[in-house]
Amino acid sequence: MGVEKVKPTLGLETPTYRCPKCGAEIRWACSGNSGYAYCANSPTATRIMEKHKLHEIEFCDWTGKTRRRQDGKVEIYYSP
Ligand SMILES: [Zn+2]
Repeated sequence: MGVEKVKPTLGLETPTYRCPKCGAEIRWACSGNSGYAYCANSPTATRIMEKHKLHEIEFCDWTGKTRRRQDGKVEIYYSP
């Protein structure tokens, strides 16, 4: 018995990346063969958070790029 799992196309097999600047989790998106990545502490990421919490957050402006490999996994490239 056992249910065969469908191979995930996004995220599930991708290790968690950490921001090289502040160590926070990296959020990323990859549609098609390439995409972008940004720090979870970026203003973009925190825009969805409650406003009264914003002053407690240190922003981080790190961004990077993502690229999908042949095997479907996503790699994150750090900007210099
Ligand atoms: Zn960061």
